Amino acid sequence: MPHVRPFLLASLAVRVIARALLDTLSPPACAACDAPVRRDRVFCPVCAEAVLRTENVPGEPLAFAAFGGAIAAALRRFKYEERPDLGRPLGHLLRGLVRDEAPVVDVVVPVPLHPRRLAERGYNQAALLAHAAAIELGVPLAARALVRLRDTPQQATLGRVERCTNVARAFVARSPRAVRGRRVLLVDDVATTGATLSACRDALVEAGARDVTALCLARTGAPSPD
Ligand SMILES: [Zn+2]
Repeated sequence: MPHVRPFLLASLAVRVIARALLDTLSPPACAACDAPVRRDRVFCPVCAEAVLRTENVPGEPLAFAAFGGAIAAALRRFKYEERPDLGRPLGHLLRGLVRDEAPVVDVVVPVPLHPRRLAERGYNQAALLAHAAAIELGVPLAARALVRLRDTPQQATLGRVERCTNVARAFVARSPRAVRGRRVLLVDDVATTGATLSACRDALVEAGARDVTALCLARTGAPSPD
């Protein structure tokens, strides 16, 4: 290769070795079942088959997929099995959704956990996903713009009507300046009845947000962790 400069070959070799080292130290695994996958894949071929992409319609929260199959398994592990590392592959899916839907926004805000639950879990899964969306869009993340006032029962344990009353007025904008006059992208992991997103939207609008677009990784009409 007479036209390839030696330093380019050296830099290529360093990258190949670094990738091999990374794969040995932290082998890429399927987000739903831990089967080995290529580093640029989120799911193994079997789990990828079980992902149902959603058709997004105006007025509904934008979602990457229907809740179920591999997405449900990955989200359960992400939330309940101390797997904040899954924020990276699942954030990758959300970045794809953001690229496809291209919402025009000024700031990204995650649905907050109550401080007590945040202390238990150690991380807010919605904030990890919101971070990925903010990077893709090149806009700021206001991770603490909203606060959850009440530690409401888990939405998964409630019926449709109870879910709405459970979260109504549960959120307030802690830093209205972060959202006032701005177009906000509101991010959660799962939307079921949309009650949580709707209560957060109310709090953002009350704080002066100009517009709120809601986005989640998975959406379902059936009871699931909301
Ligand atoms: Zn898998």
